[in-house]
Amino acid sequence: MKESDIRPAEILNTYLRLSVEDAGRFFRDRSRFRHRSCPGCAGVGQRPAFVKNGFELSFCSRCGSLYVDPIPDDADLAAFYRDSPSQRYWATVFFPSVAETRRQKIFGPRVERLRGLMADAGMTPRRVVDVGAGSGIFLEECRARGFGTDLAAVEPNSDMARTCREKGFEVFSGFGAEAGADSRWAGKGDLVVSFEVIEHVADPASYVNDLARLARPGGHVVVSGLCGTGFDIAVLGAAAKAIAPPHHLNFLSRVGVEALVERCRLELISFLTPGQLDVDILANTLAENPGLTVDRFARHLACEVPASVRQAFQEFLIAHGLSSHMWVIARRRG
Ligand SMILES: [Zn+2]
Repeated sequence: MKESDIRPAEILNTYLRLSVEDAGRFFRDRSRFRHRSCPGCAGVGQRPAFVKNGFELSFCSRCGSLYVDPIPDDADLAAFYRDSPSQRYWATVFFPSVAETRRQKIFGPRVERLRGLMADAGMTPRRVVDVGAGSGIFLEECRARGFGTDLAAVEPNSDMARTCREKGFEVFSGFGAEAGADSRWAGKGDLVVSFEVIEHVADPASYVNDLARLARPGGHVVVSGLCGTGFDIAVLGAAAKAIAPPHHLNFLSRVGVEALVERCRLELISFLTPGQLDVDILANTLAENPGLTVDRFARHLACEVPASVRQAFQEFLIAHGLSSHMWVIARRRG
């Protein structure tokens, strides 16, 4: 898989340009911004990293997670997701243009990876709950591939929730926190999944706690998202397109993830980084901006060595938990 398969450069760059404009328009008034502790380990020590889109980012002194601090308040973030041109572009242009490619290259393989992980855990899940289900493509792939028999979506966007309902899934139209507080939904999931959400949320501990609440005791929680100690994010720093506040606010380190899972009273089963794109992302970013200052070895690796060596390096990143795309597999304690 190539970055251009799932994020064509022209569409991605339009989205990022709109995000920068939105950052200025929606968050000009900083009086309601608040400081926060590390979203991974909850530590308060930090050192400044850089400023991106007008937002300050810091590294946690204890776990190395990278995070936006201070952050906007929840009401302003909610208004941003409801009303911003960048979010509208994502929902109406970006995602629809790559949805079918992503179904084949991401959502289908995602189901098979989960099947393998659950088999390793000796589990055949019946009830699978997707939190942040979007238009339900993951659940459709579950149904098509016979994974889970009771497929349910939690989705705050009312249009997307309706789409999931029309596809025949049980739907909670709201946030994970609201579903977790509903007795018809709490404690029922054999497997609760949430893909590419954790980097967006203001409080990852609340988010993971909400997922845990939706799982039954002994049930599994699987989260995927961006890892701040992964290769392309760590090498590119401020130049990483993935570091895109106000959409992306958290880039947890592996140590930060381990601390977060522990804080949420979940048992960590495994931390994986199956991302395939780190080296490709670095090469694409350098091709767009040849003058960018990056580590010389990293530039050599991304731009000059044979494709087979780049692929071998990407496989090394995957094998050793060093890609910027992570999967966290945890179990709710019984
Ligand atoms: Zn930390």
